[in-house]
Amino acid sequence: MQFSLEEENMSQIATENGATDHQSAPHQLTAADRCDACGAQAYIRVVVKNSELLFCAHHGRKHQEKLASIAESWHDESSRLLEDQRS
Ligand SMILES: [Zn+2]
Repeated sequence: MQFSLEEENMSQIATENGATDHQSAPHQLTAADRCDACGAQAYIRVVVKNSELLFCAHHGRKHQEKLASIAESWHDESSRLLEDQRS
């Protein structure tokens, strides 16, 4: 079996792509994401004017009416919160 430099470079590129794929769920909010208003765990992410806002379920609903019309992106994981409470 022969390994050329070219093949080695290609496998390195493939590894880098794989690392990018590993973060294929950038919209998933984690316990490290905190509500901008109260610091509770964030379940709603809103993009407004290219800046990202994080809200807990409570503040997400509170600001939804005002922000929904100008938000470029509205990502709501608050349904996950309900599932967590049920289990
Ligand atoms: Zn909050």
